[in-house]
Amino acid sequence: MTVVTTGPVAGLLAALGDAVMTDSDTMIAYTRDQSLLSPSGHPIAVVRARTTDHVVTTLKTAHRYGIPVVTRGAGTGLAGGANAIDGCIVLSTEKLDRILTIDQQSRTATVEPGVINGDLAAAAADRGLWYVPDPGSRAVSTIGGNLATNAGGACCAKYGVTGDHVARIKAVLADGRIIHTGAATRKNVAGLNLTQLLVGSEGTLAVIVEATMRLRRPPARTATVVAAFAEPVQAVDAVIAIQEVADPSLVELMDRTTVSAVNDMTHMGLDQTAGALLLIQCDGDAAEQEARRSADACRAAAATELYVSADPAEGHALMQARSVALTALERRGSTLLDDLAVPVPRLPHMLDAITRIADHHHLLVGTFGHAADGNLHPTIVFDAADPDATERAHQAFDEMVAGCLALGGSITGEHGVGDLKRRYLEPMIGSVERSLMAEVKAAFDPTGILNPGRAI
Ligand SMILES: Cc1cc2nc3c(=O)[nH]c(=O)nc-3n(C[C@H](O)[C@H](O)[C@H](O)COP(=O)(O)OP(=O)(O)OC[C@H]3O[C@@H](n4cnc5c(N)ncnc54)[C@H](O)[C@@H]3O)c2cc1C
Repeated sequence: MTVVTTGPVAGLLAALGDAVMTDSDTMIAYTRDQSLLSPSGHPIAVVRARTTDHVVTTLKTAHRYGIPVVTRGAGTGLAGGANAIDGCIVLSTEKLDRILTIDQQSRTATVEPGVINGDLAAAAADRGLWYVPDPGSRAVSTIGGNLATNAGGACCAKYGVTGDHVARIKAVLADGRIIHTGAATRKNVAGLNLTQLLVGSEGTLAVIVEATMRLRRPPARTATVVAAFAEPVQAVDAVIAIQEVADPSLVELMDRTTVSAVNDMTHMGLDQTAGALLLIQCDGDAAEQEARRSADACRAAAATELYVSADPAEGHALMQARSVALTALERRGSTLLDDLAVPVPRLPHMLDAITRIADHHHLLVGTFGHAADGNLHPTIVFDAADPDATERAHQAFDEMVAGCLALGGSITGEHGVGDLKRRYLEPMIGSVERSLMAEVKAAFDPTGILNPGRAI
C-alpha cells in the first residue's frame, strides 16, 4: 500500500526521486530499532539520503511543514531512539557510506555517517592504523549512530568511548543550515565544545553528515586473562585491585547464568560453577607483564581458576565468549537488555540488587558487562507470549533502574536514553538540568522537529 503523496511528500519525491520511499510495506524495515520495549509509529516517508544535499532538502521541507524527523543509522540502537513517530519522516543516513580520507600522517579518518564501524576499522587496519571504539554491534552499526549515542564498547576502560575519538563533525541543523564543529588540530579549545554537544545527542540536535575520527597505532602485543570466582563480590575486588597494578584495555564480567548460556551455545567449557567470570585483556609493549600482575590480583581476590594467554588468536577466541553473551541469552527466551552504570566499588550492591529483583519476580536474569567501567547489562529473559511474565519483566526493569539510581549510578552507560529511559532522566539529573537541556535543544532546533520526545 502506498501512502498518499501530496504536499511535503510530493515535494520530497519531486526533489529526491528514488531516495524517497512511501510504500508502507517497504518502510516497515525503517520503523524500529532493536529495543523490545519502545513503541514505534508510522512514517509518511523514508528518505535514504545519498548526499548532504538530500539531508538539507529533507530538513528544509520538514522544517517548513513542521514534520518530525527521526534520523536513523543501522537501527541497532537499544533505546528506541531511531523508532519512527506517527507522521514523521525517517531520514536514513545508511547510504551516506563513503570513507572520504584516511590521513596516515595526522592519523584521522574522515567518513560519512553511514560507514559501518567495522568497515572503518578494517580500512584503518589496512593502513597500519587502529580505529578503537568497539561496540558489540561494530559489524553492523554506523559511525553516525555511534556518535549520536556516544557508543561504548569493551575497550572503553583504557581508551574511552566514541566521543573521545572524534575531532570534527559536519552536521545539518533542523532548518537546513550546515555547521562544522571542532578542528583538524589535535588541540582545540576555541569556544564552546559543540562537537561534544552533538555526541550522544541521539538525533535531537542535528543530523551528522560527516565526521573526522581519530586513529591510533595498534598495540604491539595483547595478553588475556580468564579468572573464575566463587562470588561476584570477589570478582569486583579483583577489578579494583587490577587497576592498581595494570592498565587493562578491557575487563569484562559474566555471571553464572550468562556463562551457562554461553557454554550451551558454544561448548566452550567455561567454568559455570563460578559465581562470576572475568575476562581481562592488557595491550601494549608490557601486555604480558600487566596480564601477569592482573592474574596475581585475581589470585589475591580468591580466584578459583586462572588462565593467562599471550597468544592474540587465543585471546580473540576467549573474547568470543563475552561477544556472544546476549545472543546466548536470547536462545533462552525473549530478552530485555538493560544498561546501567554504577561507581565500580558499588558493583557488588548492584549485582545483589539484580539478584534480589530477579528472585522476587521469579525471572531469569543474566548479567554481563564492562566491569572496569561499572557498566552492567542485566538481561531479563522471559516469555513474551505470557502477559504475566511480560508485566513482571517490566517491573523488574523499573526496579533495576531505581536500584541503580539509589547507588548514585547512571540510567544508561552507553545505549542512550532514547524513548526507553526517558522517564528516568529527570530523577537522575534533576529538573533544572533537564530544562537546561531543553533550552540547548531549542537553540539548535527551535521548532522541535528533530526526534521530538526522545533523549532529553
Ligand atoms: C548485538 C548488539 C550489541 C551492541 N553492543 C553495543 C555496545 O557494546 N556498546 C554500545 O554503546 N552500544 C551497543 N549496541 C547498541 C547500538 O549498536 C549502538 O547504540 C549504536 O551506536 C547504534 O548505531 P546505529 O547506526 O545502529 O544507530 P541507530 O540505532 O540507527 O540510531 C541510534 C540513535 O542515533 C541517532 N542517529 C543515527 N544516525 C545519526 C546521524 N547521522 N545523525 C544524527 N543522529 C543519528 C538516531 O536518531 C538514534 O537516536 C549494541 C546493539 C546490538 C544489537
